[in-house]
Amino acid sequence: MTETATRPAVDAEPREFDMLIGADWVGARSGERFASVNPFTGRVWATAPAAGAADVDAAVTLAGKALDGPWGAMPAAERGRRIRRLGELIAEQAEELAVLESLDNGKLLREMRGQLKALPGWYEYFGGMADKLEGVTPPDPKPNLLVYTRHEPVGVVGLILPWNSPLLILANKLAPGLAAGCMFVIKPAEQTPASVLAFAKLVARAGIPDGVVNVVTGDGRTGQLLTAHPGVAKVSFTGSTASGIKVMKSAADHVARVTLELGGKSPNIVFDDADLEAAANGVVAGIFAAAGQTCVAGSRLLVHRRVHDELVSRIAARARTIRLGDPFGETTEMGPIAFQEQLDKVASYVDIATAEGASVVTGGKRPDSPELARGFFFEPTILADVDNSMRIAQEEVFGPVLAVIPFDDEESAVTIANDIPFGLGAGIWTDNVRRAHRVAHRVKAGSVWVNEYRLTSYSVPFGGFKQSGIGRENGMDAVREYTETKSVWVNLSDDTRDPFVLG
Ligand code: NAD
Repeated sequence: MTETATRPAVDAEPREFDMLIGADWVGARSGERFASVNPFTGRVWATAPAAGAADVDAAVTLAGKALDGPWGAMPAAERGRRIRRLGELIAEQAEELAVLESLDNGKLLREMRGQLKALPGWYEYFGGMADKLEGVTPPDPKPNLLVYTRHEPVGVVGLILPWNSPLLILANKLAPGLAAGCMFVIKPAEQTPASVLAFAKLVARAGIPDGVVNVVTGDGRTGQLLTAHPGVAKVSFTGSTASGIKVMKSAADHVARVTLELGGKSPNIVFDDADLEAAANGVVAGIFAAAGQTCVAGSRLLVHRRVHDELVSRIAARARTIRLGDPFGETTEMGPIAFQEQLDKVASYVDIATAEGASVVTGGKRPDSPELARGFFFEPTILADVDNSMRIAQEEVFGPVLAVIPFDDEESAVTIANDIPFGLGAGIWTDNVRRAHRVAHRVKAGSVWVNEYRLTSYSVPFGGFKQSGIGRENGMDAVREYTETKSVWVNLSDDTRDPFVLG
C-alpha cells in the first residue's frame, strides 16, 4: 500500500463515473447526472448517473436472470472461492478505494485505509461459509416419508447504503448475501458513489458472473424505485430511521423482506469506580472519531455525578487539542462533516440544545481558521447541563456533539440509558465486573462494550433494538438472512392414500 495519496487539483474537471448494469458500464437512460462534492475543498470532484425507473428495472431484471445462468449452477465451494478472491482483489486495490471514499465523504484517509485493510476479512469469512449452508433431515414426521430442508437464495436483493462507510457497510451485506447465492442491485448514497463503483469493477475480475452484482446511482428517489420494484425479494438498508421507515413501507407493498440498520443515540455510561483516563479516551473515540458520523457514536455521556466534573474537564481538554484538517494529512485527527446540509444540521442542534438550557463546555461552532474555511468543518463540541428529555439527548445529530447527562446511581443510569427510541450501542465504564454484566444485560442495545467502544467484526452479530433496526448483520447467522428455507417432502410408500384426508 502506497503512502502517497494525491487529491485531484481543486480546479480539475470532475471525474465521470458510470454505473454497472449487467455487464455494461452505462450512464442513466435520461442522460441525467449528479455531483459529488469533496467536503474538504467544497468543490465538485466527481459526477455519476442519476438512475431512473428504466435503469433500475434493467438492473433488477438482469440480476433476476443471473440465477438461471452460471451463478445459479455454480457449486457452493466454487462460489466461496470467488468470494474470497474478491477479498484478495480488494486488498490489492485498497489504496485507490480508500482515497475515493475519503474524497467523497471527507473521512480521514488513515481511517479509510484501516477499514480497507480489514475489509477482505469479510469476504474471506463469508466466502468460507458458502459450502457450509447445510439443511436438515428432521426425524421422520410420519411413516414412509423422507423430509429434508434446503437453504435457497432469497433472490434479488436491493442494497441501499449511507455515505459514512460505504464499502464496509456494503461488505456487511454483500459478503454473506453472495455466500447465500443471491443477486444484487446496490444503490450507494448520493454523496458517495465513487468507491462502490470502483469496487464493482473487481467483481467480474473475481470471476463472479455478469448480472450478479449491479450498481445504480442516484438519490433517495432511485432508492425508492428499487425498494418498490416487484422483482426485489429483499431490501437490506443502512441509513437514517426516517428513511428506513419509508423503505419498510415500500417493501411491504410487495412483501419484500427487510433488514434495517438505522440510527442511534448511544450512551457511554461512566461509573464512579471507572478508570477515568481510559473512559475519557473511550468517550473521545466514541463521539469525535469520524467527526461523530458513525451510527454507533457515543453521543450521550451518562456520568456519575461524583466524577462528572473531573471527566468532563478531561474530555474537554482533549477535545480542544483535536487536530482538524485535511483528511489526507497523516496527523489530522478530525476531518470535515460530509456535506453542507449535514453541517447545517449539526450547527442547528447546538442552537436547539442551548435554547433548551444546555451549556457549551467547548466547541459549538465552526472553526475560525482560514485554512478550514472552504471545508464543512465543525468544532468538537461538548454540551453540559443536558436533561435526557431534551431534543439534543433524544435525537440523532450524526456529528461531533456530545451531550453530558449526570446520574446518581446504577438504577437511574440504566433508566436514562433506555429512555430513548434507539438501541444500537452502549459503552459501560466500570472496574466492578458484577456491575458491568448487570448493566450490560439491562441496557437495550444491540452492541454493548465494557471498558471499550466502537469495535465491530465480521464474526460478531451487529444490529439494533427498537428504532435502530431490524435483523442482524455479521456473525454466522448473517448468511441465513439471505436465504429462504424450503422443506421437501418425499413419499416413500407404494400405497395411494385417501385424497380427502389431510396427510
Ligand atoms: P439516509 O437515510 O439519508 O440515506 C441512506 C440511503 O438511503 C441513501 O442511499 C439514500 O439515497 C437512500 N434513501 C433515502 N430515502 C430513501 C427512500 N425513501 N427509499 C429508499 N432509499 C432512500 O441516511 P444517511 O444520511 O446517508 O446516513 C446516515 C444515517 O445512517 C444515520 O442515521 C446513521 O445512524 C445511519 N447509519 C446506520 C448504520 C447502522 O449500521 N445501524 C451504519 C451507518 C449509518
